Amino acid sequence: MTLRLPLFEYRTPTSLAEAVAILSDSDGGAVIAGGGTDLFPKMKRRQTTPTTVVSLSAIPELSGIEIDSEGNCRLGASTPVAAVAASELVPAVVAAAAAEIASPQIRNTATLGGNLCLDTRCNYIDMPELWREASGHCLKDGGDTCWVAPRGDRCWAISSTDLAPVVIALNGTLRLVGPRGERETPAEALYRNDGIDYHDRSDDEILTQVMLPPFGGRATYRKLRRRGSIDFPLVGVAAAAHLDDRGTVGSIRLVVGAVASAPLRATAAEEFLVGRQLTDEVIEEAARLASHHVRPQDNTDTGSRYRKWMTPVFVTRALQDLRA
Ligand SMILES: Cc1cc2nc3c(=O)[nH]c(=O)nc-3n(C[C@H](O)[C@H](O)[C@H](O)COP(=O)(O)OP(=O)(O)OC[C@H]3O[C@@H](n4cnc5c(N)ncnc54)[C@H](O)[C@@H]3O)c2cc1C
Repeated sequence: MTLRLPLFEYRTPTSLAEAVAILSDSDGGAVIAGGGTDLFPKMKRRQTTPTTVVSLSAIPELSGIEIDSEGNCRLGASTPVAAVAASELVPAVVAAAAAEIASPQIRNTATLGGNLCLDTRCNYIDMPELWREASGHCLKDGGDTCWVAPRGDRCWAISSTDLAPVVIALNGTLRLVGPRGERETPAEALYRNDGIDYHDRSDDEILTQVMLPPFGGRATYRKLRRRGSIDFPLVGVAAAAHLDDRGTVGSIRLVVGAVASAPLRATAAEEFLVGRQLTDEVIEEAARLASHHVRPQDNTDTGSRYRKWMTPVFVTRALQDLRA
Protein backbone atom coordinates (compact mmCIF):
# COMPACT_ATOMS: atom_id res chain seq x y z
CA MET A 1 0.00 0.00 0.00
CA THR A 2 1.41 3.39 -0.93
CA LEU A 3 1.04 5.89 1.83
CA ARG A 4 0.79 9.47 0.63
CA LEU A 5 1.02 12.65 2.63
CA PRO A 6 -2.27 14.49 3.14
CA LEU A 7 -2.51 18.07 1.85
CA PHE A 8 -1.00 20.70 4.12
CA GLU A 9 0.59 24.13 3.96
CA TYR A 10 4.37 24.07 4.37
CA ARG A 11 5.87 27.15 6.03
CA THR A 12 9.57 27.90 6.37
CA PRO A 13 9.93 30.92 8.66
CA THR A 14 13.37 32.51 8.72
CA SER A 15 13.20 33.79 12.29
CA LEU A 16 12.03 32.42 15.60
CA ALA A 17 9.57 35.30 16.02
CA GLU A 18 7.97 34.43 12.66
CA ALA A 19 7.70 30.75 13.60
CA VAL A 20 6.06 31.63 16.91
CA ALA A 21 3.61 33.94 15.14
CA ILE A 22 2.60 31.23 12.65
CA LEU A 23 2.07 28.73 15.46
CA SER A 24 0.02 31.10 17.59
CA ASP A 25 -2.15 32.16 14.62
CA SER A 26 -2.90 28.61 13.60
CA ASP A 27 -5.52 27.74 16.25
CA GLY A 28 -3.78 24.46 16.98
CA GLY A 29 -3.76 23.34 13.35
CA ALA A 30 0.01 23.73 12.88
CA VAL A 31 2.80 21.40 13.92
CA ILE A 32 6.52 21.98 14.24
CA ALA A 33 8.86 20.00 11.99
CA GLY A 34 12.53 19.45 12.67
CA GLY A 35 13.79 17.01 10.06
CA GLY A 36 10.35 15.38 9.74
CA THR A 37 11.76 11.86 10.00
CA ASP A 38 9.12 10.92 12.54
CA LEU A 39 6.45 13.50 11.76
CA PHE A 40 6.01 12.79 8.05
CA PRO A 41 5.57 9.00 8.42
CA LYS A 42 2.95 9.75 11.09
CA MET A 43 1.18 12.11 8.71
CA LYS A 44 1.26 9.46 5.99
CA ARG A 45 -0.40 7.06 8.42
CA ARG A 46 -2.92 9.82 9.28
CA GLN A 47 -1.97 9.70 12.95
CA THR A 48 -1.86 13.44 12.66
CA THR A 49 -3.25 15.65 9.89
CA PRO A 50 -2.09 19.21 10.53
CA THR A 51 -3.25 22.00 8.24
CA THR A 52 0.20 23.63 8.46
CA VAL A 53 3.70 22.27 8.96
CA VAL A 54 6.15 24.82 10.33
CA SER A 55 9.68 23.81 9.42
CA LEU A 56 12.44 25.19 11.62
CA SER A 57 15.12 24.42 9.05
CA ALA A 58 15.54 28.02 7.75
CA ILE A 59 16.03 29.65 11.17
CA PRO A 60 19.81 30.10 11.46
CA GLU A 61 19.80 30.85 15.21
CA LEU A 62 18.50 27.35 15.95
CA SER A 63 21.50 25.54 14.51
CA GLY A 64 24.99 25.01 15.80
CA ILE A 65 26.98 23.88 18.81
CA GLU A 66 29.16 26.12 20.99
CA ILE A 67 30.80 26.25 24.38
CA ASP A 68 29.85 29.44 26.22
CA SER A 69 32.05 31.52 28.52
CA GLU A 70 30.97 29.42 31.53
CA GLY A 71 31.87 26.16 29.86
CA ASN A 72 28.28 25.11 29.10
CA CYS A 73 27.73 23.25 25.87
CA ARG A 74 24.87 24.93 23.98
CA LEU A 75 23.24 23.04 21.13
CA GLY A 76 20.67 24.58 18.81
CA ALA A 77 17.56 22.44 18.51
CA SER A 78 17.77 22.28 14.70
CA THR A 79 21.30 20.86 14.76
CA PRO A 80 21.24 17.61 12.76
CA VAL A 81 21.72 14.46 14.81
CA ALA A 82 24.65 13.60 12.52
CA ALA A 83 26.36 16.88 13.48
CA VAL A 84 25.86 16.07 17.17
CA ALA A 85 27.35 12.62 16.58
CA ALA A 86 30.38 14.13 14.83
CA SER A 87 30.96 17.01 17.22
CA GLU A 88 34.02 17.24 19.42
CA LEU A 89 32.40 19.99 21.48
CA VAL A 90 29.63 17.85 22.96
CA PRO A 91 30.28 15.38 25.79
CA ALA A 92 31.46 12.10 24.26
CA VAL A 93 28.44 10.22 25.62
CA VAL A 94 26.07 12.53 23.72
CA ALA A 95 27.95 12.04 20.47
CA ALA A 96 27.99 8.27 21.01
CA ALA A 97 24.24 8.09 21.73
CA ALA A 98 23.49 10.28 18.70
CA ALA A 99 25.58 7.96 16.52
CA GLU A 100 23.34 5.07 17.56
CA ILE A 101 20.12 6.71 16.35
CA ALA A 102 18.47 5.15 13.32
CA SER A 103 20.65 5.17 10.18
CA PRO A 104 23.10 7.62 8.52
CA GLN A 105 20.39 8.93 6.17
CA ILE A 106 17.98 9.59 9.02
CA ARG A 107 20.69 11.11 11.23
CA ASN A 108 21.53 13.58 8.45
CA THR A 109 17.93 14.81 8.29
CA ALA A 110 16.81 14.34 11.90
CA THR A 111 17.39 17.10 14.45
CA LEU A 112 18.28 17.17 18.11
CA GLY A 113 15.03 19.01 18.92
CA GLY A 114 12.95 16.45 17.03
CA ASN A 115 14.64 13.66 18.91
CA LEU A 116 13.96 15.23 22.30
CA CYS A 117 10.36 16.02 21.31
CA LEU A 118 9.75 12.64 19.69
CA ASP A 119 6.15 11.43 19.99
CA THR A 120 5.61 8.26 22.02
CA ARG A 121 5.39 5.04 20.00
CA CYS A 122 3.29 1.89 20.16
CA ASN A 123 2.51 -1.10 17.93
CA TYR A 124 -1.17 -0.15 17.94
CA ILE A 125 -0.85 3.51 16.93
CA ASP A 126 2.08 3.40 14.50
CA MET A 127 -0.01 1.67 11.86
CA PRO A 128 -1.74 2.85 8.68
CA GLU A 129 -5.21 4.30 9.07
CA LEU A 130 -6.99 1.30 7.53
CA TRP A 131 -5.32 -1.09 9.99
CA ARG A 132 -6.29 1.12 12.93
CA GLU A 133 -9.87 1.44 11.70
CA ALA A 134 -10.16 -2.32 11.29
CA SER A 135 -8.76 -3.10 14.74
CA GLY A 136 -10.55 -0.24 16.50
CA HIS A 137 -8.96 3.06 17.44
CA CYS A 138 -6.89 3.04 20.60
CA LEU A 139 -6.83 5.69 23.34
CA LYS A 140 -4.05 7.70 21.69
CA ASP A 141 -6.03 7.57 18.44
CA GLY A 142 -9.28 8.95 19.83
CA GLY A 143 -10.78 5.58 20.84
CA ASP A 144 -11.81 4.44 24.30
CA THR A 145 -9.58 1.38 24.77
CA CYS A 146 -5.87 0.90 25.18
CA TRP A 147 -5.21 -2.32 23.25
CA VAL A 148 -2.01 -2.89 25.22
CA ALA A 149 -3.77 -2.91 28.59
CA PRO A 150 -7.52 -2.91 27.82
CA ARG A 151 -8.59 -2.87 31.45
CA GLY A 152 -6.56 0.25 32.20
CA ASP A 153 -7.44 3.85 31.52
CA ARG A 154 -4.07 5.18 30.41
CA CYS A 155 -1.97 5.05 27.26
CA TRP A 156 1.26 3.05 27.46
CA ALA A 157 2.95 4.32 24.29
CA ILE A 158 6.71 4.38 24.79
CA SER A 159 9.23 7.19 24.94
CA SER A 160 11.82 5.95 22.43
CA THR A 161 14.22 8.86 22.18
CA ASP A 162 17.86 7.90 22.63
CA LEU A 163 19.07 11.38 23.53
CA ALA A 164 16.57 12.28 26.26
CA PRO A 165 17.98 9.80 28.85
CA VAL A 166 21.50 11.08 28.14
CA VAL A 167 20.54 14.76 28.35
CA ILE A 168 18.70 14.07 31.63
CA ALA A 169 21.66 12.11 33.03
CA LEU A 170 23.90 15.09 32.24
CA ASN A 171 21.42 17.39 34.00
CA GLY A 172 20.70 19.33 30.81
CA THR A 173 18.42 22.34 30.59
CA LEU A 174 16.04 23.10 27.73
CA ARG A 175 15.08 26.51 26.41
CA LEU A 176 11.55 26.82 25.04
CA VAL A 177 10.02 29.77 23.21
CA GLY A 178 6.34 30.30 22.50
CA PRO A 179 3.62 32.95 22.27
CA ARG A 180 3.72 33.40 26.04
CA GLY A 181 7.45 34.07 26.06
CA GLU A 182 10.59 32.15 26.82
CA ARG A 183 11.38 29.71 29.62
CA GLU A 184 14.05 27.29 30.72
CA THR A 185 13.32 23.92 32.23
CA PRO A 186 15.42 21.00 33.42
CA ALA A 187 15.25 18.37 30.68
CA GLU A 188 13.88 15.88 33.19
CA ALA A 189 10.83 18.09 33.81
CA LEU A 190 9.79 18.04 30.13
CA TYR A 191 8.71 14.40 30.18
CA ARG A 192 5.50 12.93 31.60
CA ASN A 193 4.88 9.22 32.01
CA ASP A 194 1.71 9.32 29.90
CA GLY A 195 1.67 8.06 26.31
CA ILE A 196 -0.73 10.78 25.15
CA ASP A 197 0.21 13.77 27.29
CA TYR A 198 3.92 12.98 27.24
CA HIS A 199 5.37 16.51 27.39
CA ASP A 200 5.12 19.47 29.70
CA ARG A 201 5.16 21.66 26.59
CA SER A 202 2.29 23.26 24.72
CA ASP A 203 1.99 22.53 21.00
CA ASP A 204 2.97 26.10 20.11
CA GLU A 205 6.18 26.06 22.17
CA ILE A 206 9.41 25.56 20.23
CA LEU A 207 12.37 23.85 21.81
CA THR A 208 15.19 26.16 20.77
CA GLN A 209 18.26 25.13 22.70
CA VAL A 210 19.75 22.40 24.86
CA MET A 211 22.27 23.46 27.49
CA LEU A 212 24.62 20.91 29.02
CA PRO A 213 26.60 22.11 32.04
CA PRO A 214 30.32 21.34 32.23
CA PHE A 215 30.77 17.74 33.30
CA GLY A 216 34.05 16.37 34.55
CA GLY A 217 32.84 12.90 35.44
CA ARG A 218 32.27 9.62 33.66
CA ALA A 219 29.20 8.93 31.53
CA THR A 220 27.86 6.17 29.33
CA TYR A 221 24.82 5.14 27.30
CA ARG A 222 23.85 1.53 26.72
CA LYS A 223 21.19 0.71 24.16
CA LEU A 224 19.39 -2.56 23.53
CA ARG A 225 17.97 -3.03 20.07
CA ARG A 226 17.41 -5.96 17.76
CA ARG A 227 19.88 -4.86 15.05
CA GLY A 228 23.00 -2.76 15.27
CA SER A 229 21.44 -0.07 13.09
CA ILE A 230 18.07 1.56 12.33
CA ASP A 231 16.23 0.17 15.33
CA PHE A 232 14.73 2.21 18.13
CA PRO A 233 15.89 1.42 21.67
CA LEU A 234 14.09 -1.41 23.48
CA VAL A 235 15.90 -0.36 26.65
CA GLY A 236 18.31 2.56 26.93
CA VAL A 237 20.37 3.25 30.05
CA ALA A 238 22.24 6.51 30.58
CA ALA A 239 24.50 7.03 33.57
CA ALA A 240 26.65 10.00 34.56
CA ALA A 241 28.71 9.97 37.75
CA HIS A 242 31.57 11.56 39.62
CA LEU A 243 33.87 9.01 41.25
CA ASP A 244 36.74 9.84 43.59
CA ASP A 245 40.27 8.41 43.32
CA ARG A 246 39.22 5.27 45.16
CA GLY A 247 36.27 4.71 42.85
CA THR A 248 33.66 5.80 45.39
CA VAL A 249 30.57 7.36 43.84
CA GLY A 250 30.22 11.01 44.85
CA SER A 251 27.16 11.70 42.72
CA ILE A 252 25.32 9.83 40.01
CA ARG A 253 22.33 10.26 37.71
CA LEU A 254 20.93 7.07 36.24
CA VAL A 255 18.13 7.13 33.66
CA VAL A 256 16.29 4.24 32.03
CA GLY A 257 14.69 4.98 28.69
CA ALA A 258 12.30 3.14 26.34
CA VAL A 259 10.54 1.15 29.07
CA ALA A 260 7.78 3.68 29.87
CA SER A 261 6.13 6.75 28.36
CA ALA A 262 8.96 8.90 29.78
CA PRO A 263 12.63 8.35 30.55
CA LEU A 264 12.72 7.21 34.20
CA ARG A 265 15.22 8.45 36.77
CA ALA A 266 16.34 5.48 38.90
CA THR A 267 16.47 7.52 42.10
CA ALA A 268 16.48 4.56 44.53
CA ALA A 269 19.52 3.13 42.76
CA GLU A 270 21.19 6.56 42.67
CA GLU A 271 20.74 7.01 46.44
CA PHE A 272 22.05 3.52 47.08
CA LEU A 273 25.16 4.11 44.94
CA VAL A 274 26.31 7.39 46.50
CA GLY A 275 29.18 6.76 48.92
CA ARG A 276 29.77 3.22 47.63
CA GLN A 277 32.40 1.74 45.36
CA LEU A 278 31.17 0.05 42.20
CA THR A 279 31.88 -3.52 43.25
CA ASP A 280 30.06 -6.38 41.53
CA GLU A 281 27.72 -6.72 44.54
CA VAL A 282 26.93 -3.00 44.62
CA ILE A 283 26.25 -2.95 40.88
CA GLU A 284 23.98 -5.98 41.18
CA GLU A 285 21.90 -4.35 43.91
CA ALA A 286 21.76 -1.03 42.04
CA ALA A 287 20.60 -2.84 38.88
CA ARG A 288 17.88 -4.56 40.91
CA LEU A 289 16.74 -1.24 42.41
CA ALA A 290 16.82 0.50 39.01
CA SER A 291 14.64 -2.11 37.33
CA HIS A 292 12.33 -3.01 40.20
CA HIS A 293 9.59 -0.53 39.20
CA VAL A 294 10.13 -0.85 35.46
CA ARG A 295 7.04 -2.34 33.80
CA PRO A 296 7.52 -2.52 30.02
CA GLN A 297 4.38 -3.43 28.08
CA ASP A 298 3.91 -5.64 25.02
CA ASN A 299 3.81 -2.76 22.58
CA THR A 300 7.06 -2.75 20.67
CA ASP A 301 9.58 -5.14 19.17
CA THR A 302 10.16 -8.19 21.43
CA GLY A 303 8.04 -9.12 24.43
CA SER A 304 7.66 -7.11 27.61
CA ARG A 305 9.26 -9.84 29.75
CA TYR A 306 12.40 -9.77 27.67
CA ARG A 307 12.70 -5.99 28.11
CA LYS A 308 12.05 -6.36 31.84
CA TRP A 309 14.81 -9.00 32.09
CA MET A 310 17.21 -6.94 30.03
CA THR A 311 16.79 -3.76 32.05
CA PRO A 312 19.04 -4.87 34.97
CA VAL A 313 21.47 -6.35 32.44
CA PHE A 314 21.84 -2.98 30.71
CA VAL A 315 22.01 -1.06 34.01
CA THR A 316 24.78 -3.45 35.04
CA ARG A 317 26.67 -2.83 31.80
CA ALA A 318 26.31 0.93 32.19
CA LEU A 319 27.63 0.86 35.76
CA GLN A 320 30.49 -1.42 34.69
CA ASP A 321 31.34 1.18 32.04
CA LEU A 322 31.58 3.83 34.76
CA ARG A 323 33.80 1.59 36.87
CA ALA A 324 36.09 0.87 33.94
C1 LIG B 1 13.47 3.89 10.62
C2 LIG B 1 13.57 4.83 11.78
C3 LIG B 1 14.43 4.52 12.82
C4 LIG B 1 14.53 5.37 13.93
N1 LIG B 1 15.39 5.02 14.93
C5 LIG B 1 15.51 5.84 16.00
C6 LIG B 1 16.41 5.49 17.05
O1 LIG B 1 17.13 4.50 17.00
N2 LIG B 1 16.47 6.32 18.13
C7 LIG B 1 15.71 7.47 18.22
O2 LIG B 1 15.82 8.18 19.22
N3 LIG B 1 14.85 7.80 17.23
C8 LIG B 1 14.74 7.04 16.13
N4 LIG B 1 13.88 7.39 15.11
C9 LIG B 1 12.97 8.53 15.28
C10 LIG B 1 13.42 9.85 14.65
O3 LIG B 1 13.93 9.69 13.37
C11 LIG B 1 14.48 10.53 15.50
O4 LIG B 1 14.07 10.56 16.84
C12 LIG B 1 14.76 11.93 15.03
O5 LIG B 1 15.82 12.46 15.82
C13 LIG B 1 13.59 12.87 15.09
O6 LIG B 1 14.06 14.14 14.67
P1 LIG B 1 13.31 14.98 13.54
O7 LIG B 1 13.97 16.31 13.51
O8 LIG B 1 13.22 14.26 12.26
O9 LIG B 1 11.87 15.09 14.23
P2 LIG B 1 10.49 15.45 13.53
O10 LIG B 1 9.95 14.24 12.86
O11 LIG B 1 10.60 16.67 12.72
O12 LIG B 1 9.64 15.79 14.83
C14 LIG B 1 9.38 14.84 15.83
C15 LIG B 1 8.42 15.48 16.83
O13 LIG B 1 9.06 16.55 17.51
C16 LIG B 1 8.39 17.79 17.29
N5 LIG B 1 9.46 18.78 17.14
C17 LIG B 1 10.50 18.72 16.27
N6 LIG B 1 11.36 19.71 16.51
C18 LIG B 1 10.84 20.43 17.54
C19 LIG B 1 11.27 21.60 18.25
N7 LIG B 1 12.43 22.22 17.97
N8 LIG B 1 10.47 22.08 19.24
C20 LIG B 1 9.32 21.45 19.55
N9 LIG B 1 8.87 20.35 18.93
C21 LIG B 1 9.63 19.84 17.93
C22 LIG B 1 7.54 17.58 16.05
O14 LIG B 1 6.39 18.40 16.06
C23 LIG B 1 7.19 16.11 16.17
O15 LIG B 1 6.11 15.94 17.07
C24 LIG B 1 13.77 6.57 13.99
C25 LIG B 1 12.93 6.88 12.91
C26 LIG B 1 12.82 6.04 11.83
C27 LIG B 1 11.93 6.42 10.70
